[in-house]
Amino acid sequence: MAEKIFKKNDEITLTVTDISDDGAGIGKSDGFIFFVKNALPGDEIRAKVMKVTKSYGFARLTEVIKPSAGRCKAGCVVSEKCGGCTLQNYRYDEQLRFKFNKVKNDLIRIGGYSEEEINAKLCDIVGMDDPYRYRNKAQYPVRMGKDGKPHAGFFAGHTHSVIETDDCLIEPEINASLLRAVISWMNKNHVKAYDEESGKGLVRHVLIRHGFVSGECQVNLVINGNKIPDEIGLINALKEVMPENLKSVTLCPNTKNDNVILGDSYRTIYGEGYITDTLVGIRFRISPLSFYQVNPVQTEKLYGLARDYAGLAGEEEVLDLYCGIGTISLMMAAKAGHVTGVEIVDRAIKDAKDNAKINDIRNAEFITGAAEDVIQTMLPGADEKRRKPDVVVVDPPRKGCARSCIDAILTLAPSRVVYVSCNPSTLARDLKIFREGGYELMKATPVDMFPHSSHVETVVLLSRV
Ligand code: SAH
Repeated sequence: MAEKIFKKNDEITLTVTDISDDGAGIGKSDGFIFFVKNALPGDEIRAKVMKVTKSYGFARLTEVIKPSAGRCKAGCVVSEKCGGCTLQNYRYDEQLRFKFNKVKNDLIRIGGYSEEEINAKLCDIVGMDDPYRYRNKAQYPVRMGKDGKPHAGFFAGHTHSVIETDDCLIEPEINASLLRAVISWMNKNHVKAYDEESGKGLVRHVLIRHGFVSGECQVNLVINGNKIPDEIGLINALKEVMPENLKSVTLCPNTKNDNVILGDSYRTIYGEGYITDTLVGIRFRISPLSFYQVNPVQTEKLYGLARDYAGLAGEEEVLDLYCGIGTISLMMAAKAGHVTGVEIVDRAIKDAKDNAKINDIRNAEFITGAAEDVIQTMLPGADEKRRKPDVVVVDPPRKGCARSCIDAILTLAPSRVVYVSCNPSTLARDLKIFREGGYELMKATPVDMFPHSSHVETVVLLSRV
């Protein structure tokens, strides 16, 4: 227990030792834990207490007394305000070291592995050669500024105020010009940006997507209504920026007053309703509403490791749980006898089936449903026609796998399990259950899919002993 009782506006000094999931610095003052935004591991700081709960508090950074050796100058001028790149002022090699250690510590502390075993089996983190301009998708909110004109930018962390910025260093450079084209079309036609309070104004968000392999670009306007004035003017302004590669312009009506960016449907006003791109050797058709991995360079590496870990020889039955749009399933199908993908979002399953067709992949089937439910129908005795999987792949959301799902995998007893995780602590929790169920950790590799954020992905191979 902490000795001292802290209250709002207290001034504290502390040394930051860790980073939280949403990128805040963590440190202790008089034994009490504080979260401080924009503070980095190794920083000695002064901060002002903003809020205290029973077991931790939040404080605002007022002074860096002694900077961390990992501190650097962020290339982006709004990085401290914008909710996106919380670690841009942390040297990239330090970011990687931090992420590697997070995985390592969670596997030891939560997973219960010995340090020796982790040292032997945890491979180096796979970072990016160039950790900028890596995102193929961006969603920019558009709001009216104090000058009475529309502006596009990003939301400040945990708020709804828009920080105007022309250029974001993790998005393609050309996006700034595309945004300017939209804004100038708005100015010319006196189109107002959406206002959350009154529910008035037309343009809410601009979504821009690029196929990094195909070069194709899609611009989607989320609008508070059904139509826009001067469609041709908008299309021409965008085409002036990207004469060759602009392949799709769509409108996505969303008149609801909530936090959800997209509506449920869209209308194509130029080109096709989708763009096409290639990832892990598979062609994907991407509409404004489809999910698609946002860092294709690192996805190739992450899923490439998953494919290697699966060790397929050509005849195996593969079960891909939490399969999304089927990226892993379709990639593995070429090397397996048969693949079954399971995913809870029906639209993603539709995309997976379409993508199988486009690529002429016939040995992959897709089932909509919760992994923990669908897998029950695959247990011995439930459906005798179903082949028992030789390899099970899981790629669950941050909360990890349901216990009942892991239990069912243990009953199915595949020779290998490949676990792709976006959250080291739930990964470690789940690996402990697998170990108790007779699966040995063979190797694990962290992959940095989101440079400058605190997130880290890990791919793990487990083998039945
Ligand atoms: N490998 C996928 C991405 C997986 S992300 C791809 O490349 O597309 C995790 C997925 O799990 C998401 O698509 C999410 O919709 C899905 N999901 C979440 N809970 C689930 C559950 N209980 N059962 C099955 N799928 C689930």
